[in-house]
Amino acid sequence: IIAILYTSKLIKPINEMEKQLKITMDENKKAEKIRKDFVANVTHELKTPLTSISGFVETLQDGAAENPEIRRKFLDIIAIESARLKRLIEDILIISDIENKREVNTDSDINVREAIEEILAALEPILEAKKVSVSTYFAYEIYIGGNYDRFKQLMMNLIENAVKYSHDGGAIFIAAKKVEGKVHISVKDQGIGISEEHLPRLFERFYRVDKSRSQKVGGTGLGLAIVKHIAALFEAEIKVESELGKGSTFTVIFK
Ligand code: ADP
Repeated sequence: IIAILYTSKLIKPINEMEKQLKITMDENKKAEKIRKDFVANVTHELKTPLTSISGFVETLQDGAAENPEIRRKFLDIIAIESARLKRLIEDILIISDIENKREVNTDSDINVREAIEEILAALEPILEAKKVSVSTYFAYEIYIGGNYDRFKQLMMNLIENAVKYSHDGGAIFIAAKKVEGKVHISVKDQGIGISEEHLPRLFERFYRVDKSRSQKVGGTGLGLAIVKHIAALFEAEIKVESELGKGSTFTVIFK
């Protein structure tokens, strides 16, 4: 009878259902592991600057504050570490907001040129400080549908990285154009570049090619994870081309 059921394909749907259930369970397990790893990473990342802050505060309280030079040095470290904590918390909140699908606002037509020009205006002080120049190319009338604030966040993270990982006096090129009906926006830098082995893991939370370098330039390791999340909201695809020592190009392709 079983053989008949098999050949008559009556038993197949049950097998399919079991297979489906197993896949769903595997996915749940994977999601749970990612969540647990994230919580562990967040805890570690938050603890590091906090430990440093409380350590320096304690040393100041124990008498180091008497020496003006040491006092200034320690206060500077405390300010830097507090700023790092603030950035980390802001980035974690952005990820959590996106995961909870909390939309900032739901405008539909995004004027790409306008959004990028606003970002560049906001970045003017760090561009000036690093003497990095930015040139742009916008094809006529480029619009995409979606949330304006999220779009700006995505582009801000890519452009900020291009600046952070550029050498002083470097050049960045931003282009927005239409290719076969799709909007392609690329951010190209001539900075430190990324070697091939790191490319597959670049968008993971807290993944950095060089942790101390990332911290020195004010990175949290969450920038590209946020980019990936927002790109998924837009159903956009991200392409990275990079060569160590030559520079990187991140391209977002909107559907
Ligand atoms: P971070 O806050 O460390 O910049 P991101 O998630 O934004 O974290 O990026 C992950 C890592 O990818 C960075 O630490 C850096 O090593 C690398 N990276 C990102 N963008 C660039 C770039 N334009 N040029 C070189 N390396 C980059």
